[in-house]
Amino acid sequence: MKRNFRRIAACITAFLMLGAASSSYAVKNGDTLSAIANEFDTSVTAIVEANGISNPNRIYVGQELVIPGADSYIVQPGDTLEKVATKTWTTVAVLAEANGITNPDLLYVGTQLQLAIPAHTFEADTGSATTYVVQAGDTVGGIAARHKTTVSSVVELNRIANPNLIRIGSTLVINGAGWLCPVEGGTFFNDWGFPRSGGRFHEGNDIFAPHGTPIVAPVSGTLLQVVGDIGGYQFNLEGDDGNLYIGSHMDRFATDGYVQTGDVIGYVGDSGNAKGSRPHLHFEIHADGENPVNPYPTLAEACG
Ligand SMILES: [Zn+2]
Repeated sequence: MKRNFRRIAACITAFLMLGAASSSYAVKNGDTLSAIANEFDTSVTAIVEANGISNPNRIYVGQELVIPGADSYIVQPGDTLEKVATKTWTTVAVLAEANGITNPDLLYVGTQLQLAIPAHTFEADTGSATTYVVQAGDTVGGIAARHKTTVSSVVELNRIANPNLIRIGSTLVINGAGWLCPVEGGTFFNDWGFPRSGGRFHEGNDIFAPHGTPIVAPVSGTLLQVVGDIGGYQFNLEGDDGNLYIGSHMDRFATDGYVQTGDVIGYVGDSGNAKGSRPHLHFEIHADGENPVNPYPTLAEACG
């Protein structure tokens, strides 16, 4: 039901309303104000006030209603980020931040854009830097594992030319226990909010990597294995940072229960409704365990 209204919202146009994000909706047969209010996450009172309606039980088919506080907009052909900002009475900067848009010139028709920066914003804990003095017998891999970080992170931070040659007694800067890239070497772009079948929207990012690429826990937490028709082999990781991480379409699981940052939890694949497609991890971040947020800014920082 909600999704149907969202799809109808594809024909929204915007009106100036007290500076808040707003849009308009043409009343359809069978609509009630309470149903419309419910589907747009607003209240009957707000719609009544915005439209000067004297009798809330009397709305007519085709009536254009201003919907105050609409929270999303679906990109139409010919839209640019500037045009959307003008239509929805917001700014390019707000749209870019709310949707994790890094390239304003790449806007895809049908994408659902959030019009305001969500209350549940997500900022990954990038960890704290520490130093470590290399001991006899150490390897970069071993040091990285012990500090819950990655080889590439240690190599980059210390500008190590050859990871097989580290000098005993040298001091390395280690950025440990931070938020780890779940699929090291995977490729992804900002496909958050892209249209999906049935009027759904993509509530994550797809990280592409060959079959069998290991997936690591970005943070420590409790892992739940889920198997379903859509997500296939899926993990739900209740992170110790309070966020819920969901990853779908794995070929197989690696571990269950409590995991440490960096533990291998599964392998990239094409299970569930991704069968036969290019193998990828569909990855979601639910800030505070509730609302999904765009993982792109976090992935871009952690996987760069
Ligand atoms: Zn996906």
